Amino acid sequence: MSAGAARGASATTPPESAAGGGVTSATRVIALLGDPVRHSRSPLIQNAAFRYAGVDGIYVCLQCPADELGSLLRTLTFGGGAGNVTLPHKERAAGLIDVPSDAVRRTGACNTFWKEEDGIHGDNTDVEGFRRALTGFLAAEGLGSPAGAEVLLLGAGGGARAVLVALLDEGVGSIALLNRSTERARAVARRIGGERVRVAESVQAVQDERYDLVINATRLGLAPEDPLPIDLGVLEGAGAVFDLVYGAGPTPLVLAARARGIPAIDGGEMLVQQGAVAFERWWGIPAPVEFMRAALHGRP
Ligand code: NAP
Repeated sequence: MSAGAARGASATTPPESAAGGGVTSATRVIALLGDPVRHSRSPLIQNAAFRYAGVDGIYVCLQCPADELGSLLRTLTFGGGAGNVTLPHKERAAGLIDVPSDAVRRTGACNTFWKEEDGIHGDNTDVEGFRRALTGFLAAEGLGSPAGAEVLLLGAGGGARAVLVALLDEGVGSIALLNRSTERARAVARRIGGERVRVAESVQAVQDERYDLVINATRLGLAPEDPLPIDLGVLEGAGAVFDLVYGAGPTPLVLAARARGIPAIDGGEMLVQQGAVAFERWWGIPAPVEFMRAALHGRP
């Protein structure tokens, strides 16, 4: 149950006692550090959650060059604040924190930080955010759990690494990893993989296979002129599609899948869920997930 719901408010109506009366002398600054950061929808989601939960915090975006990441991260946390890290700093952040979570150690990337008595802690909430979004999606579509699934994972960047860790923990049967740069995919498979992960050298290596789940963790779909991240022939055999990319409406990959009757979800729910886990790390209380989801979709 969410903190707000615990006080008897509905999931989408902030309780009257919620903070929101402005910045106080005790307000915690929670910052997203990245470059660029202006496109981010996290302030929308987190500031709505802070208001709903009645916590005294403000979420801001700080454009941050790589060389300044360490000093900003320390300044924020020693000033009582905390934050998120986004592109292109997640890997660098993993080397700057004192107490990495298991997810940070396994992925080599950190997207959430906060301070405790023993130093600056870091987590990679993309792992749990993806896991929650995927299991919720499959359950809602009546497709069961990911256990035993044959998966095609496109991409080998930070997002793909988080996905890989979550899929292995969920007990999928096998994962074919296909990336533009095969060498990068091999490096990811060496770090995280194991015997259930194989690197596909080319599209030809996957096009005659049938996958229970196709996951896009490339950037393709962010720009309107982008091609689809995978051939339609491969897509047609998919049982379900999960696109990490998100935008104002369904992504081209999600639209292409749905047009073929394939259940598909974009990255919006993962964004909400990884934000909910970060909220829980910063404030130590359950996140108002339904309210965060409503904020992303512009619902009052
Ligand atoms: P990243 O570390 O920069 O990795 C980018 C990936 O995209 C790499 O695999 C890269 O391949 C591939 N790529 C880039 N341009 C390409 C092209 N023209 N053709 C084919 N492949 C291309 O980025 P990331 O952090 O993993 O993010 C990837 C996507 O996931 C982004 O759209 C991001 O917004 C999304 N994401 C969403 C969430 C969420 O909460 N929904 C969380 C994390 C990430 P190479 O290795 O060959 O360069």
